[in-house]
Amino acid sequence: MTLSIEEMSTFCKKKGIVFKNSEIYNGLAGFFDFGPLGVELKNNVKQMLWHDFVQTRDDVVGIDGTIICHPRVWKASGHVDSFSDVLLECEKCKEKYRGDTLIEDVLKIRTDGMPKAEIIKVLKEKEIDCPKCKGILSEAKEFNLMFTTQVGAGSGVMSYLRPETAQLIFADFKQVTDIGRVKLPFGIAQIGKAFRNEISPRDFLFRSREFEQFEIEFFVHPKKLNDCKFYDEVKDYRINILLDGEKDHKEFSVEELMKKQVFKTKWHAYWLVQYYKWFLKYGIEKEHLRLREHAKEELAHYASACFDVEYKFPFGWKEIHGNADRGQFDLKQHVNESGKDMSIFDEETKEKVIPYVASEPSQGVERAMLAFLFEAYHDDKERGNVVLKLHTKLAPVKVGVFPLVNKLDEEARKIYNEIKDDFVTTFDRSGSIGRRYARADEQGIPFCITIDFDTLNGQSVTIRNRDTTKQERVKIVELKRILRELLGR
Ligand SMILES: [Zn+2]
Repeated sequence: MTLSIEEMSTFCKKKGIVFKNSEIYNGLAGFFDFGPLGVELKNNVKQMLWHDFVQTRDDVVGIDGTIICHPRVWKASGHVDSFSDVLLECEKCKEKYRGDTLIEDVLKIRTDGMPKAEIIKVLKEKEIDCPKCKGILSEAKEFNLMFTTQVGAGSGVMSYLRPETAQLIFADFKQVTDIGRVKLPFGIAQIGKAFRNEISPRDFLFRSREFEQFEIEFFVHPKKLNDCKFYDEVKDYRINILLDGEKDHKEFSVEELMKKQVFKTKWHAYWLVQYYKWFLKYGIEKEHLRLREHAKEELAHYASACFDVEYKFPFGWKEIHGNADRGQFDLKQHVNESGKDMSIFDEETKEKVIPYVASEPSQGVERAMLAFLFEAYHDDKERGNVVLKLHTKLAPVKVGVFPLVNKLDEEARKIYNEIKDDFVTTFDRSGSIGRRYARADEQGIPFCITIDFDTLNGQSVTIRNRDTTKQERVKIVELKRILRELLGR
């Protein structure tokens, strides 16, 4: 796996997975569109998240909130006052720079967790010139990353495009709990668009201005942070983790990490394992995945612990999932701002409590997608083409149907029509069969059905396996059942 991010971006464009947005107008930096294969892949990633963490759990429910909401939501959450990066602009060439990345690129000093005031101070002392034209850079200042918008005619109301989905969960908290379907401990989940006006978007889908997020707030009784009934299921599970202050990750069991007080609560430990395992389940190799413990200075003021799940991209270990213990911060902020009561009644203890967020997973859908793509990409020298070994649940197209020769079109169409309602299927009759297999490999199609002359005689077809290239002859009457079995794994 030595593919660079640029090569991956070229591959994605060529295969119709991800395009540059507004390309005919030379694009708009930080925005991407998803092509025919990309929309399927992205939907599959979202669907698996929703299936695994919401639909198959009786302690998590979902919502779908709006992109624009009352501006006071963002006042309460702290985004209006402090959701910003440090900005500098070249007075000569007008290039814009993010303070922390400028320090990392030019001074080679790591800035993870460096407070903004410190970043501004360093920039003032070092007097860095514009790396592009050596011009003078403007004074460093804070730049709020929320996109603003006007709601209503005339002067209207100024609001924002949401910079995260999580706050909608807090803003809707009362309405969800009032329905009475949930009792502590429980989670509320959401998947949807989020927007950040990044100063310098870069690394393809990595730092874009419009993206999709998957978030859950998992609420527990504030005095029962270790009262996790699932803990025994995970306590012996072994996890790769980069501890704060260490150079390399090591493997520890969950129990060992609890004892070392790296994991602060059993609930947080349980949930971290679930997300770590989720990436493994859909095809990430264990050597390419680890947790990273946030340094103390890196923690947001409201979080008492935070971990990233990192994937080993060809350009280094990068975050594909963040997971914070947020405590009662957000609900209390909304109590203060709205004056509404956000406490709920806990039947077990007969107490009214403001629930505690033991785990807030925050996952960019596109970043997960990118990790799966890198993991799946195999340049197969023997076959002479790329094989995209995506998990069957993620593969954009599940089945390809090919007539061996054009004469067999009609017969092949029949098969296609029979299965297309059950599986996302493509029909391909152009070029040699070898060429069609290669094309299917590059699209990550797990199984290809070929209709040959034996089909007419024996009522059978061959199924070719993408990963092994092995072909198996099966009866047409058995085809659907066999495909369902193969794709169900
Ligand atoms: Zn310049």
